[in-house]
Amino acid sequence: MATTDTSGAATPEPAFDPALPAAGTLERLTPLVRRRICANGGPFTASGTCSYIVGRGEVAIIDPGPDDADHIAALVAASEGETISAIVVTHTHRDHSPGARRLQALTGAPIVGCGPHRAARELAEGEFPHLDASADREHRPDRELAEGDTVSGEGWTLTALATPGHTMNHLAFALAEENALFSGDHVMAWSTTVVAPPDGSMRAYMSSLDKLRDRPETLFWPGHGGPVRDPRRFVRGLAGHRRQREAAIRARIAAGDGDVGTIVLAVYQGLNPALRGAAALSVFAHLEDMVARGLIRSDGPPRLDGVFEPA
Ligand SMILES: [Zn+2]
Repeated sequence: MATTDTSGAATPEPAFDPALPAAGTLERLTPLVRRRICANGGPFTASGTCSYIVGRGEVAIIDPGPDDADHIAALVAASEGETISAIVVTHTHRDHSPGARRLQALTGAPIVGCGPHRAARELAEGEFPHLDASADREHRPDRELAEGDTVSGEGWTLTALATPGHTMNHLAFALAEENALFSGDHVMAWSTTVVAPPDGSMRAYMSSLDKLRDRPETLFWPGHGGPVRDPRRFVRGLAGHRRQREAAIRARIAAGDGDVGTIVLAVYQGLNPALRGAAALSVFAHLEDMVARGLIRSDGPPRLDGVFEPA
């Protein structure tokens, strides 16, 4: 989400890009990568989910997207005369993985990539599963990939990188032949990533950012929006932005703001009301992480409706 910090320091935040790539057209981006964007645009999806066709002749399709008949039919048409050797899934959100099953029904290709959906932690007593509707709990890959596992075809190899945080099963995929990386929803140019407990984890997300900061790739292809160029610098900026956000939240706690709603109003300015719920979950993700690190205290296990105070 594109938001403004009140904490002052000038860490660049990825701004909303008005020139988002258009949905519904097949584009060749590089010799090995084509992209079609599903027409499921919205405040959390940019112009829609990016599906990537990797390779020539023998291809992988990364993130077929939601169960959208038109989009899946277009992906099948785009790869006509080619063999789809793998349907690759980065993570189990409903805008990324359900289309894999429709694509498999049409092509017989195996589904590979992330494992079944799982949460970062158990629900606390009385806690509501806030973003439950966004999870795809039916995803069962034919082959689950772990860190370093590869899927390959004629002229291309995709190597899985475990990048938990946005979801705990999230994978990114390095394409060595083009020194590029498919970053899923973990790193995107158009918006910061939603990190929402209990499914997501800020601690894991920050570790996964550290991991990508040292990668050799010079171009990231995200799950939504256009490419990330100069990704090392961009990822450093994302991590700095989150640390700055954490400091701003901690300052509000020190000033006596004890609940998520009050902190959201103080820390986010000019926030699109459609994103208020996501901002609350993001603040909560930071609070939960700071409780775990002993920086602040909560009344019982951290909950979105809990009360927080300095440690
Ligand atoms: Zn997602």
